[in-house]
Amino acid sequence: MKDLNFDTKAIREGYRTTGEQEHSEAIFLTSSFKFDSAEQAANRFSKEEPGNIYARFTNPTVDAFEKKLTALEGAQACTATSSGMAAIFATLMALLQSGDHVVASRNMFGTSIVLLNSIISKFNIDVTFVNLSDLDAWQDAITDNTKLFLLETPSNPLGQVVDLIALSKISKANNILLAVDNAILTPALQLPLSLGADIVIHSATKYIDGQGRCLAGAVLGSEEVIEQVHGFVRTTGPSLSAFNAWIVLKGLDTLSLRMKAHSDNALRLATWLEQQSSVEKVHYLGLESHPHHQLAKSQQSGFGGIVSFEVKGGRQAAFDIINATEIFSITANLGDAKSTITHPASTTHGRLTDEEKQAANISEGLIRISVGLENVDDLIDDINKGL
Ligand SMILES: *Cc1c(COP(=O)(O)O)cnc(C)c1O
Repeated sequence: MKDLNFDTKAIREGYRTTGEQEHSEAIFLTSSFKFDSAEQAANRFSKEEPGNIYARFTNPTVDAFEKKLTALEGAQACTATSSGMAAIFATLMALLQSGDHVVASRNMFGTSIVLLNSIISKFNIDVTFVNLSDLDAWQDAITDNTKLFLLETPSNPLGQVVDLIALSKISKANNILLAVDNAILTPALQLPLSLGADIVIHSATKYIDGQGRCLAGAVLGSEEVIEQVHGFVRTTGPSLSAFNAWIVLKGLDTLSLRMKAHSDNALRLATWLEQQSSVEKVHYLGLESHPHHQLAKSQQSGFGGIVSFEVKGGRQAAFDIINATEIFSITANLGDAKSTITHPASTTHGRLTDEEKQAANISEGLIRISVGLENVDDLIDDINKGL
């Protein structure tokens, strides 16, 4: 189905039936698969005959999710994982070895930084952190042993962006794999592989599920890369469960509509916030005031659902606004149909020292919103209560 449009592929790709003519995809809740004969078992194990053996290796529902996401990202292959962190960890462990060096964006999901600093570092793999948008810093950080660039664009919560085409020229010239965590925009709004990236990583927990129901992850790229990552997953076990695969598979059906609605709501809310006298600054890529607006426009087809803003009065003022809301859920999660609100300096970025917070521009008055799918007028009224 290669020539179809995104929305059609999102609904029609990866469909498979048990033979019972069911219209909705089935959930294959089985740990193992049985064979017609001893010969077939032998052929499956020797890979002479393709097919399922054991659910840690493959499962038809997981396969359906992988096929659909592969089509949407324009990849050759995909391997699903039990969470976004499992996807990042599997990528690093499958592709790196002792002595290798990674250059990573400083402006990544907090647990990704912790993973690099406290777990990957135990395997004699060095990491250099750079500012996401600073192309010279990526170039300068390269050593003879650099194997991988790892980043998220746009960053959360401030929406910084890196020029992926320019960065991929640097990575390709130095034989380095470029891996992009695309959880914040999803393939509905950004296709990193088409901009020169080699690997796309997902926390499908976020917008791909879109309703906060389960954890899931995925890694996409060339057959060669994914074979290695899948080998790591099937051997070490962070495989996606059939049930969770079914949830995120169904999530993909409506992804494009939802991402558009998240983006529309976010732009309305951000535009309103920018007009409020007690708001010092609004960080939303869809606003022309955002320093990366033009770059984002050139490589994204939308701006997504994350809006953050700084209020006058520091932490107390921010807490007052958060506590006055009645619709928003106070939680650090994002990518849900339900809008969420959080104070990064005391939650997601609470482990940082004051100096690190300052360097990352996480001020005490900063509030982050993951704009959901409620009516935006109600969301605006809700924020206005505490302003
Ligand atoms: C949440 C998140 C992750 C981690 O995903 P889990 O599914 O929670 O393991 C990784 N990257 C980004 C950008 C995220 O938002």
